[in-house]
Amino acid sequence: MAEILVLGAGMVGVSTALALQARGHSVSLVDRGAPGRETSFGNAGIIQAEAAEPYGLPRDLGTLWSMVTGRSNDVTWSMRGVTQMAPALWSYFLQSAPRRHAEISRTYAQLTARATADHAPLIEAAGADNLIAREGMVQLYRSAAAFEADVADAERLARDYGVRHRAVSGADYRREDPALQRDPAGVLHWTDSWSCSAPGCLVHSYAKLFASRGGRLLEGDAASLAQSGAGWRVTTAAERVTAEHVVVALGPWSPTLLRRLGYRIPMIYKRGYHGHFETKRPPLRPIVDMDNGVVAGQMQAGLRIATGAALVTRKAPVDLRQLDRGRAAISDMLEIGGRVDEPQWSGTRPCLPDMLPLVGEAPRHKGLWFHFGHGHQGFTLGPTTGALLAAALDGETSEIARALAPAHRI
Ligand SMILES: Cc1cc2nc3c(=O)[nH]c(=O)nc-3n(C[C@H](O)[C@H](O)[C@H](O)COP(=O)(O)OP(=O)(O)OC[C@H]3O[C@@H](n4cnc5c(N)ncnc54)[C@H](O)[C@@H]3O)c2cc1C
Repeated sequence: MAEILVLGAGMVGVSTALALQARGHSVSLVDRGAPGRETSFGNAGIIQAEAAEPYGLPRDLGTLWSMVTGRSNDVTWSMRGVTQMAPALWSYFLQSAPRRHAEISRTYAQLTARATADHAPLIEAAGADNLIAREGMVQLYRSAAAFEADVADAERLARDYGVRHRAVSGADYRREDPALQRDPAGVLHWTDSWSCSAPGCLVHSYAKLFASRGGRLLEGDAASLAQSGAGWRVTTAAERVTAEHVVVALGPWSPTLLRRLGYRIPMIYKRGYHGHFETKRPPLRPIVDMDNGVVAGQMQAGLRIATGAALVTRKAPVDLRQLDRGRAAISDMLEIGGRVDEPQWSGTRPCLPDMLPLVGEAPRHKGLWFHFGHGHQGFTLGPTTGALLAAALDGETSEIARALAPAHRI
């Protein structure tokens, strides 16, 4: 049994703490705030079994041009943001080349394929079943050509990775989900994905489970991390904690901490926003509006509309253009009322150029473990890569663990 510090109590850190604890280790989980209040709080809440392939950077000129000119609502950018991230974005572009992307997807698909199974025992033990729907999620198309192209691609994903779907005509889907106000051209229903009606609450309930099993949940600043003898030390509000191992699971804040230890992590920061809206007719399952770059799904707080990516600096001011545009555009399909009164949330997807999370021991420091960079699917993958991290810390090796290890990647 080892003493282990986990820094960061988002979905990734909390899941890591549970996985290490399940292996008999003594774990302290440190966050500067309550668990699940940052990126893991405001996402679209989908446990994405369908996401066998990570989002590559589009390489066709038409799509890139619509992003550059601001016609696409999927991605917005600022010159300062793009300039700051230029080396990471260039590497992302190279890694998105079809052959390399296919190679990365072979690893990624192994993670998403087991994501719901890895969440299932935690949901049960945490008593959080009331937060979970197992109805899948849908992609909605207004153009028949785009729908047919994506149905062909879905069939390829079914063949290559066993991801299941239904292709449904717009009229049929509207009969199934009367929340739709008109017929779309078509709908792709990914049947194996799950959705959560309060992502932050799910993380919180996992954290409570960790504490109920004897784990220590502490408030403190990860910036106090220092080497201490053969191990590591962090100062928390209650005490100074020392441990043999420390796991950095600070999501988009991880590179800042690690820079002090000499690691330059090339992260792409993809900011997103959400807003909650009143509706009398919530959709049956979350809807990805393929034409307008937003996801709409019913949450405890109202109909949550979550946006795509804004490539801006970490300190850029709030800019609700994507949210406003997406809400206006999807109102042709869904009845959307007034905005729920709430503080404006934004979060940053912590993306790495090769689209895979970093999971494993740091190349130059004994007992320092990396566990971040889950990009678009950290809410999905926390328990899965948490289990892989815990196995690696116990000295177990596997092909997938080697593919995610930091040693050959930074
Ligand atoms: C709009 C949007 C929609 C998304 N939709 C989905 C989705 O449907 N499905 C999906 O799987 N993923 C989705 N994602 C991605 C997902 O939210 C992230 O990948 C995931 O939340 C990352 O989790 P994390 O634990 O790594 O980071 P976080 O949840 O950000 O956790 C990091 C923790 O570190 C703590 N911390 C930071 N600095 C310090 C410090 N100095 N000291 C102490 N603690 C510190 C923070 O307080 C925080 O609790 C979406 C993201 C966005 C932005």
